[in-house]
Amino acid sequence: MEAVKAPRGTRDILGDESWKWAYVTQMCRNVADDYGYREVHLPIFEHTELFCRGVGETTDVVEKEMYTFTDKGGRSITLRPELTASMVRSYLENEMNKGTQPAKLWSIGPMFRYERPQKGRYRQFVQLDIEALGAQDAFVDLEVIDFSMELYRRLGLSNLQVVLNSVGCPKCRPVYRKALQEYLRPRFDELCDSCKSRFDRNPLRILDCKSPICKEITEGAPSVMDHLCDECKEHFEQLQRGLDKIGAVVKHDKRLVRGLDYYTKTAYEILSGDLGSQNAVCGGGRYDNLAEAIGGPHVPGVGFASGIERVILTMEAQGCSFGRKPENKVYVVAAEPDARLDAMSLMRTLRMNRISADMDYMGRAMKGQMKTAGASAEYACILGMSEVERGVVTLKDLKEGVQEELTVEQIVNKLK
Ligand code: ATP
Ligand code: MG
Repeated sequence: MEAVKAPRGTRDILGDESWKWAYVTQMCRNVADDYGYREVHLPIFEHTELFCRGVGETTDVVEKEMYTFTDKGGRSITLRPELTASMVRSYLENEMNKGTQPAKLWSIGPMFRYERPQKGRYRQFVQLDIEALGAQDAFVDLEVIDFSMELYRRLGLSNLQVVLNSVGCPKCRPVYRKALQEYLRPRFDELCDSCKSRFDRNPLRILDCKSPICKEITEGAPSVMDHLCDECKEHFEQLQRGLDKIGAVVKHDKRLVRGLDYYTKTAYEILSGDLGSQNAVCGGGRYDNLAEAIGGPHVPGVGFASGIERVILTMEAQGCSFGRKPENKVYVVAAEPDARLDAMSLMRTLRMNRISADMDYMGRAMKGQMKTAGASAEYACILGMSEVERGVVTLKDLKEGVQEELTVEQIVNKLK
C-alpha cells in the first residue's frame, strides 16, 4: 500500500524554511505595532453566505475557487478564501463601531482557494491582512499603501512596482460600465469565453483578462479615470497628493480592477519583478459597500492582503536576509556511557540559562557524537568520568578547534 500524500496544492513548511516564516511574521508584527494595528484571530471557516454576499457571486473566487462543504448540522460552510469579509463580519458582530474609529486590525493565517497549483499559487496559502474600518479619509488609503511598502522595505525587497487605480463607486461606476460595454460591443464575438460571460455580469473584469486577444481589444478602452464622480476624483487626488508627499512612486493603470467585487475608489497592487507570472505580492483597496453587502450598516473600509509565500519567494530570489538561522550553540558529548547522566544534567542547566543545547540519543560512540557536534553546533561540551570526578567540563570551540577545561558556571557565563 502506498503511503498517504498531502493534498494537491498544499505544502509542508519544514525546519529549513520555517525560520524564514518566523522572521517575516515578526516583521509584519513590528510594522503593525508601529502603524497602530491590533492583531485579531478569526475563524478559518465561515458561513458560505458571508463570501457569496461579501466577495460577490460573479467573482472567480466565489464562482470557482471556494472550498465549500455541508457540515454535520446541514449548514453550508466555506474555508475562508480571503480575510476582508471576515474582518468586516467581526467588526459588525463585535460592535467595533463603538470604539475608536477607524478600527485598525491585522491578522495572518491560511487561506484556501481551489486553484491550479503552480509556483506562487497554492490551494492553501498564507496571507497577511490589514484592514482599517470606519473612515472615509483618503489618508487611510495612503496609510494602508504605505504600510505595505514599509513592510517590504524592512524585509529588504527591491524591484517592486506599485500599481494604482480607482474603480469608482456605485454612483459613477454604472456610467463607466455602460461606456465600457458600448466600446466592447462591436468586438464581442472575439472576446474569450469567460469574458463573453463577464460582458453583462461584470464587464470591468474584462480589463483584467490575461488572454492576448482580450488584452488587445481592451487596449483602447475608455478609462475609468475619465468617468469618476467628483467625490471619487477628489479622493483619488488627495491620495495622490499624499503619495507624492511621502515620495512613493506609483504607476496608474486603468486595467487594474481587482478580482473581488466589493472594491470602491482605490484599488492597488504591488508587483514583484522577480516572480514570473504569479507576480502580485499584495493587493488591496477600498471597499465602502462591503459591510452593507453582508447585512450591516454603511461602514467604509480599506486594507490589503499579501501572500507570504510570494513575499518569501521574492526575498529568496533577491538574496534578502532572513536574520539568523537558529542553530544549536552547544552539543554535549558523553565521552563514555557512564558520563551520560551528568551530560544530560549539564545540557539541562545550559537550556535553563537559555543556551541552546542538545545531546546524543542514538547510542553513538564519542567519535560519532563529535561528528554530530561539528555539523550542528558552535561548541562541544565534552564530559568523561575524569571530568565528572574533578567537577569540570571540556569546552571545545568547534570553529577555532581550541579547547579548555571550565566549571559549569564558567561555561554558562562565557556562552550566555
Ligand atoms: P492573483 O491575481 O495572483 O490570483 P488575486 O487577485 O486573486 O491574485 P487577492 O485575492 O488580492 O489575490 O489576494 C491577495 C494576495 O494573496 C495576492 O496578491 C497574492 O500575493 C496572494 N495570493 C492570492 N491567491 C494566492 C494563491 N492561490 N497562492 C498563493 N498566494 C496567493
Ligand atoms: Mg486569484
